[in-house]
Amino acid sequence: MLSYQHAYHAGNFADVHKHLTLFAVTGFLLRKASPITYIDTHAGRGLYPLSAAESQKLQEHRQGAERLWQERQALAADPLLGDWLSLLAEAQLTAGKQASLTLDCYPGSPWWLSRRLRAVDRLTLFELHPGEHEHLAGQRLPSNVKHIHGDGLKGLLQRLPVATPRLCVLIDPSYERKSEYAEVAETVLSAMRKARHGVVLVWYPLLPAGRHSELLEGLRSGGLRKIWRSELTLREPSSEERGMYGSGMLVINPPWGLEEQLVTAMKRIEPLLGPDARHRGEWWVAE
Ligand code: SAM
Repeated sequence: MLSYQHAYHAGNFADVHKHLTLFAVTGFLLRKASPITYIDTHAGRGLYPLSAAESQKLQEHRQGAERLWQERQALAADPLLGDWLSLLAEAQLTAGKQASLTLDCYPGSPWWLSRRLRAVDRLTLFELHPGEHEHLAGQRLPSNVKHIHGDGLKGLLQRLPVATPRLCVLIDPSYERKSEYAEVAETVLSAMRKARHGVVLVWYPLLPAGRHSELLEGLRSGGLRKIWRSELTLREPSSEERGMYGSGMLVINPPWGLEEQLVTAMKRIEPLLGPDARHRGEWWVAE
């Protein structure tokens, strides 16, 4: 049974990490003209009004996107953060306002990907939760975006290989079931056999139980190469504190230049996210 709803967590530090990474990767992909198929296997609602009861309950955006939003003028000099924050400002207009000084809504991965789409590209969004899919279906999305109510991991494998020369996939599960770490690893290994040059981003939570190692080891032992790992931690893991202490992203086949751009941007935002916030970027498996 699916119970996770991203609206409770929209705009938190993990979303900032995930969406900045996604935004950076797609920015590099756009430097070439050839068409791209994007697949978002776990799309969520697409856009999250932060005044909604779900978001107000934990107000996680206050420790995440809101911290960057408050400092947007100072951060504008950084090419990645500057562009990302300009689009975040545009998302506030999408929410129906003329100009907004406050962060009223936070956009999810379908929105960030839609903003990168050119006429030659296509985007397929999968969402399995019926209620979450209904929200997604209610979003205004460009005509080259398709949303599917279904399983994103199975759907991804069914769609490979794609018709376009390039592929970019975001896999962002809720990991409600412990078996999801291994399922994601198996899916990625199968997907890479069908689309060797695809750029694949996988998000994972850093929790004291350390289950993400099943995913990381699964990919390494499966023989996959060229995996760059980016981890943003708010504190050191401890057995006393429950909950997510960090956010992890794997980028398989990262575009050249990503590492430098992302590490620079993440270093800039570390002090905004907390006194012990640290970002580490490194090759998990080199070429
Ligand atoms: N990617 C979104 C973003 O960045 O805005 C957030 C996604 S949220 C972490 C995970 C979503 O995956 C939830 O909305 C959940 O309902 C959905 N989900 C869970 N299992 C799924 C599956 N097998 N296929 C597709 N969606 C699934």
